Amino acid sequence: LRHLVPYTTSRSTEAVQDDVSSRVCSSAGGDKPHGKNEAVDVGTAFHRNHWPHILSRKQYEAMYRWSVEDPQSFWGSIAAQLHWERPWDKGQPICSYNFNLDKGPIYVKWFPGGRTNVCFNALDRHVLSGNGNKAAILFEGNDVGIDRRLTYQNMLELVCQIANYLRSLGVKKGDTVCIYMPMVPELPATMLACARIGAIHSVVFGGFSAESLAGRMSDCRPKLLVTCNAVRRGAKVLNLKEIADKALELCEKKEGVRVGQSLVFENANATKRSDTAWKNGRDVWWQDVIPRQSKNAPVEWMDSEDPLFMLYTSGSTGKPKGVMHTVGGYMVYAATTFKFTFDYHDDDVFWCTADCGWITGHTYLAYGPLLNGATCVVFEGVPTYPDAGRCWQIVDKYKVSIFYTAPTAIRSMEKEGDRFVKKYSRKSLRVLGTVGEPINPKAWWWYFDVVGDGRCPIVDTWWQTETGGNMISPMAGAWDLKPGSATLPFFGVQPVLLDEKGREKEGATDGNLCIKAPWPGIARTLFGDHERFQQTYFSTYKGYYVTGDGARRDEDGYIWLTGRTDDVINVSGHRISTSEVEAALNAHPACAESAVVGFDHEKGVRSEIGGFAAPDVIHWATGLPKTRSGKIMRRILRKIAANKLDELGDVSSLADPSVIDALIKLKGK
Ligand code: ATP
Ligand code: MG
Repeated sequence: LRHLVPYTTSRSTEAVQDDVSSRVCSSAGGDKPHGKNEAVDVGTAFHRNHWPHILSRKQYEAMYRWSVEDPQSFWGSIAAQLHWERPWDKGQPICSYNFNLDKGPIYVKWFPGGRTNVCFNALDRHVLSGNGNKAAILFEGNDVGIDRRLTYQNMLELVCQIANYLRSLGVKKGDTVCIYMPMVPELPATMLACARIGAIHSVVFGGFSAESLAGRMSDCRPKLLVTCNAVRRGAKVLNLKEIADKALELCEKKEGVRVGQSLVFENANATKRSDTAWKNGRDVWWQDVIPRQSKNAPVEWMDSEDPLFMLYTSGSTGKPKGVMHTVGGYMVYAATTFKFTFDYHDDDVFWCTADCGWITGHTYLAYGPLLNGATCVVFEGVPTYPDAGRCWQIVDKYKVSIFYTAPTAIRSMEKEGDRFVKKYSRKSLRVLGTVGEPINPKAWWWYFDVVGDGRCPIVDTWWQTETGGNMISPMAGAWDLKPGSATLPFFGVQPVLLDEKGREKEGATDGNLCIKAPWPGIARTLFGDHERFQQTYFSTYKGYYVTGDGARRDEDGYIWLTGRTDDVINVSGHRISTSEVEAALNAHPACAESAVVGFDHEKGVRSEIGGFAAPDVIHWATGLPKTRSGKIMRRILRKIAANKLDELGDVSSLADPSVIDALIKLKGK
C-alpha cells in the first residue's frame, strides 16, 4: 500500500511554519494559486487491514459522474442495500422536485412509494444478520471510571422498551416527542424508539435555557418531554429537570401548550432521586416504567416522505430554524455519507464528540454509524475534564480509529499544549474529522501533526442542519488534502458558485455557494412554516438551494468555504472573506482564535493591494460570543462594532452572555 500511494509528511517544524504562513497569505490574498506543492498526500498507509472504499480521485470522479448523471441507478443501488418493507416504485423517477419558486411551491421527494423504518435498519437488521453481540455504544461517563457497553442486541431491547412505553401513553405515528437529555445512551435510544413507532423527535440540546426549551416545545407541541434529573459536565452539575420544569410551566402559562408528561431518566451519577423536585401526575421516573416493558415492539412501516425528526439550526445567523427531515432520503444519505467520508470499515471504532442536540449528533452519532453497524463512543463529559488530555485517554481506552470533532474543540485543546496529547499513544487513530466552522490552517496542522502524528487524513466536512449529511469533504484516503479546504462534493451533490445576479461562475473563482439539484438528505421544510423555508433557501436565486455560505473554487476544483455571505466584508469593491482574514490572525502564536466583522465607516482605507484588508481595530478579548454548539456569532460582533446594542437579535443560542458584557466594556475603553 505504502508503495502504491506515496506518503509524504516528513516536514521540519520550521518548514511547517513557513508552509502555514505562505498558505495563509495565499488564501487571505486569494490571488496566489494553490499549487500541487500545497497538497498533503496522506496516501493509504493509514488503512490497517483493508483497502479504502474509494482509492483515488479518478475512481471518485467516475462514481461522481454516475451519481449526477444517473441518480436513478446510483441511489437505487445504494438504497437497495438497506431494508425496504415495500420497495420504492421503480417505474417512477427516484427523485422528483421543484427548486424554482416561479414554477410553484418548493418540494423534494425521494424513493416514491417506498416503505421502510430507520430504526429497523439501524438495529434489527444487524441483530437479524447475527451481529447482535457487536458493541453498538461504548458509553464513557463524565467522570473517569464510569462506563457501559451496549451491544446491538442490548440497544434493540432498550429501544423496544421505550417504544412500548411511548405507545402505552398513546404516542403514535406523526406525534411529536421532545427530548432534553444529556449525552447518555438513553438519548439516542429514545430517538430510535420514536423512529420505530413513527413519532417525530425534536431533540433540544441539554444546555439550552428554560425559555429556549419552552419556545421549541410550544413550536412542536409534544405529547411528552423526555428529560433527566441532572448531568455532571466537567466539575459542574447541571440540573436539567429544574430547567425542564420551568420550561413546562412557561409553555403552559405563556403559550397555552400543556405537555402531558415529563419522563425523567435518573442519572444517579449526578444527583439523588430524593433531591429532585417532583410534580405527581406529570413526572414519571424512567427507571420505574421502562424496564418493565416488553423487549419486543413491532415496527411502524413509514412512507419514504413521512417526517423522521425536526431539529433547530445553531442560530449563528439569526433565530434558529426548525428543520424537518424525512425517513427515506435522510436514512440513505446518513448511511452513505458516513461510510464514504470516514472510510468506515467493520473493525473501526468511531467517536463523534458532537452532542445529539445538533445535526452532527443526529447523523454521525445516532443514525449514520448505527445504520452501518458501527461501534461508537458516546461521551457525557467535556474534552477538558479532568484535564485537556481526556479525549486521547478515551481514544486509547476504546481504541478509537475515527475521531470527529469541531474546530472550536481543536483550538481549545491546541491552546492547552501538546503534552496533553503526547501523553497518550493514539495509535488506533486512522481518520480525523472536523465540522461546524471553517478550520484555520494552523489548527489543521496541529490536528494533523500532533493529534494524528502525521498519519491520519483530516476530513474537513462542510454541511448544514438543512443538508442532513455531509456535502463537501474529502473521502478519507482517496485524494490529496489542502489544509482549510473541504475539497470535493459528495456523490450526487452539485455545488455551484453564483455571482450576485445568480449566474453560475465557471473555473477557479468565488461566489455564493448554492446547490443545483436535490440530494437525498435535503430538508423538506421548516416545521410548520413552509413559507419561511422557501424564502430562506430558494428565493434569492431561482432554481437553486441557497446555502448562505460563500466559497472559492481553486484550479484543482477544490472548494474553500470563505464564511457566511452575510459576513462578507466589502472594502472598496473587494470582497474579503472573514474566514481567510481569521486564518491569517490565528496563525500568530499569540492568538488562540479570532472573529472578523465589518462595520460602516468613513473613507480612508489603505488602498495598496493587500493593505486593503488591514483591520481597522483589533480588540484582544478573553472570549468570543459563541452558539452553544461552539460557533462564533459574528452577527452579534457586528452590532457591537456598530454600537447597535439594542439590536443584538435572537440570543437564545448564545452560550455565555457574560462574554457580550465584557466585549462591550472593552470596546468602551
Ligand atoms: P443558523 O442557520 O441558525 O444561522 P448555523 O448555520 O450555524 O445556524 P448549522 O446548520 O449548525 O447552523 O451550521 C451550518 C453552517 O456551519 C454552515 O452553513 C457553515 O457556515 C458552517 N460550517 C459547517 N461545517 C463547516 C466546514 N467544514 N467549513 C466551513 N464552514 C462550515
Ligand atoms: Mg445555517
